[in-house]
Amino acid sequence: MNALVWVIGVPIVLALLGAAYIRRNRDKPSGEPAVPVRRPAGGRTGSCGQQTEVWHVASSDVEPYYIAYCACEWMGPARDGADPKAQEKATADAYGHSGNVAPNVVRPLG
Ligand SMILES: [Zn+2]
Repeated sequence: MNALVWVIGVPIVLALLGAAYIRRNRDKPSGEPAVPVRRPAGGRTGSCGQQTEVWHVASSDVEPYYIAYCACEWMGPARDGADPKAQEKATADAYGHSGNVAPNVVRPLG
């Protein structure tokens, strides 16, 4: 009788633990892979010394776009996310304003 409980019970418990483990890992905020900001070759850099970020703004409410945003409150033009070069353009905007550009694209809306 005891042996039967083990034979049937252990695989069930293992299966439940396994399912819980998989679920926890799947639901874990995966933290989208950080998108690196690549400095455009040969572009001149601006003189504002404050940190400028490249933002990728995207949510269900807004059309996605990229924009450069500086700690001094300067903002570059919005670059339409449908343009495959949008990130590149916003990065060039950021460097055109400041040589101090954050290394990863920021997603302010998550
Ligand atoms: Zn600035």
